[in-house]
Amino acid sequence: STEGFAVLRQALLVASRSERVRRVVETAPFSDEVVRRFIAGETIEDALRVTGDLTAEGLLVTMDVLGEDTHDKERAEANVQHYVELLERLGAAGLGTRAEVSAKLSALGQTFDEDLALANARRICAAARDAGTTVTLDMEDHTTVDSTLRIVHELRRDFPDVGAVIQAYLRRAEEHCAELAYEGSRVRLCKGAYAAPSAVAFTDREEVDRSFVRCMKVLMAGKGYPMLATHDPRLIEIADALAVLHDRDPGSFEYQMLYGVRPQEQRRLAAQGAQVRVYVAYGREWYPYFMRRLAERPANLRLFLRSLAGR
Ligand code: FAD
Repeated sequence: STEGFAVLRQALLVASRSERVRRVVETAPFSDEVVRRFIAGETIEDALRVTGDLTAEGLLVTMDVLGEDTHDKERAEANVQHYVELLERLGAAGLGTRAEVSAKLSALGQTFDEDLALANARRICAAARDAGTTVTLDMEDHTTVDSTLRIVHELRRDFPDVGAVIQAYLRRAEEHCAELAYEGSRVRLCKGAYAAPSAVAFTDREEVDRSFVRCMKVLMAGKGYPMLATHDPRLIEIADALAVLHDRDPGSFEYQMLYGVRPQEQRRLAAQGAQVRVYVAYGREWYPYFMRRLAERPANLRLFLRSLAGR
């Protein structure tokens, strides 16, 4: 039932933040097969191979180094260096025009020092520019939204192509879309993947979907570059219709989907002439990302539980 699913989803999102559950899941023998559906591997080589394959098929990519909620400077520094190395290799491989990176500010120090996170993000943007590509800053927990939008705004003075993310489940999403729908502004619209209280977020799925449509209307009618990140067939149909309504050519917006989710649909849209970007996450810290994917879909959860039971 929908209600049962909502409870389960909440439990999984809470577990995504638990160290204890993390240790059990990360070391369990079942992990590999299920995890591999959503994670491109652990190393830069794995991720570049997957990215090379996807771009050869005509898809675009955004690469994400797994890791979030960093609590010390050294770790944040290591994360920046990893991104810089990734971008150097991406550029050297000639993938800069087809693949960009996504980064989480919480991996760069936002949790304890906003200025440090900004400085770190700036270094990643500079490395991206050298590689001929761009950066999108993922949106995380609702408590970080104002800080993240401040940082995006600051970065755009020097790097106007930095991508922002709006989560449709937030009550202020439509307002934020209107503020961001200007010339050259790259905006990813997604439903939102974290646990958020009803004071700030719509908690009913249908309400979230309606908000997504309102946001999409604002972005598609605006002057920016919308990046519509959803696997939802109804929302993709509405996006198609809005593109026609606003006379948008296929190069003026893109669809985005996660690696491992609806791969046939990704190829179908691309074959129709749409730009489709696949979010390719890789690295050792796959646990919270993986748990958010499980929370999204009962079928994924069943798969996971079956492997838990050893079947
Ligand atoms: P859902 O409501 O999960 O699914 C809707 C429908 O899509 C389903 O009913 C089904 O028909 C179809 N579907 C979904 N999954 C599958 C599947 N595995 N197989 C077949 N059909 C399926 N969240 C953030 O909070 N911050 C971010 O920065 C962020 N970045 C993202 C970037 C990208 C590229 C994408 C795709 C998602 C991102 N998300 C982010 C996650 C997002 O917020 C959602 O949690 C996630 O995309 C699931 O929502 P959905 O729109 O796909 O719809």
